[in-house]
Amino acid sequence: MLVDQHGRIINYLRLAVTDRCNLRCFYCMPAEGIDYIDRKELLSYEEMLRLCTLLVAQGVKKIRITGGEPFLRKDLISFLEKLASIPGLEEWHLTTNGTLSTDLVAQLKKLNVASVNLSLDTLDRQRFLNITRRDLLPQVMATLDALLEQGIKTKINAVVMARHNIEDIIPLINLSKEQALDVRFIEEMPFNGSARQGMEQWDHVAILEYIKKYFPDLQKVADPLFSTSANYQVPGFKGKMGIIAAYSRTFCGTCNRIRLTPKGVLKTCLYDKGTFNVKDILRAGATDAQLLIAIQEAINSKAIDGIAAETARAKDITESMASIGG
Ligand code: SAM
Ligand code: SF4
Repeated sequence: MLVDQHGRIINYLRLAVTDRCNLRCFYCMPAEGIDYIDRKELLSYEEMLRLCTLLVAQGVKKIRITGGEPFLRKDLISFLEKLASIPGLEEWHLTTNGTLSTDLVAQLKKLNVASVNLSLDTLDRQRFLNITRRDLLPQVMATLDALLEQGIKTKINAVVMARHNIEDIIPLINLSKEQALDVRFIEEMPFNGSARQGMEQWDHVAILEYIKKYFPDLQKVADPLFSTSANYQVPGFKGKMGIIAAYSRTFCGTCNRIRLTPKGVLKTCLYDKGTFNVKDILRAGATDAQLLIAIQEAINSKAIDGIAAETARAKDITESMASIGG
């Protein structure tokens, strides 16, 4: 079992399979994109499967595939087939921008994906273009339809940004009126691939107050174990809605996760600067036992929370979320 020095069991891995993306969401990367990792530096599928198998044997029960845009990585579906059949893995999930995956949704269903998080910040085509710098909203909506048609548990993730999509908050919640999907609003974080800090924050308190004005009878519902969102229900709606205080970091106390970046860096906190590069020791010929010792050592240094992890950095955050996985 993997346990950190604060006694928290680590049973959830977020695996970013690429840092490449076909969108340019302004909160994630600059218009010109980021310097993508050289392909040789990416963890190969074989390396990922080895690490996942090792971690699952140590008690990791849940793996989320993310990126960059996961569907830009060649042969993703064959990789997912192998991932889904790792003995002991209880559930695998996927986060996608939905622009490339409409025709692949049936295959995700066959592979028993436990849920898909679809990133969708607005229902308005012009605002989608302004936010993502690409005119691809119809493709995302087609993926959403396909997910619901296949009966795949779907969560919409919307980053809340002052002056960009406040008017979308209520229409997004309204999607969950007739459809069994959950909508989650995420505070914007400074992982935008530049030194731009000081976002005009709409924090979780402001988001909730805004929503309550429209839905005064909004009910708080129980949050699942390890949930990063505070969850609510509009009475009569099929789906739920949640708020993720990703910048305020109110949920770190129960953190159960680690991350592997596309180039194989283990991050024990989203806000840390990367604990160590697992790929380097893996390619140097480390045995499974040696890999596990190194991973456990890294987990031993997991910060108590995201504020402590950020404070321990020497410099401001300048990474893109695409190179971490969210
Ligand atoms: N490309 C895929 C997608 O967009 O769903 C997967 C990777 S993306 C980095 C994962 C999640 O991180 C998305 O839901 C995205 O909205 C979120 N994200 C990216 N940059 C963020 C930021 N600066 N603040 C908050 N959330 C962010
Ligand atoms: Fe791409 Fe996802 Fe980042 Fe948007 S949030 S630029 S879709 S990786």
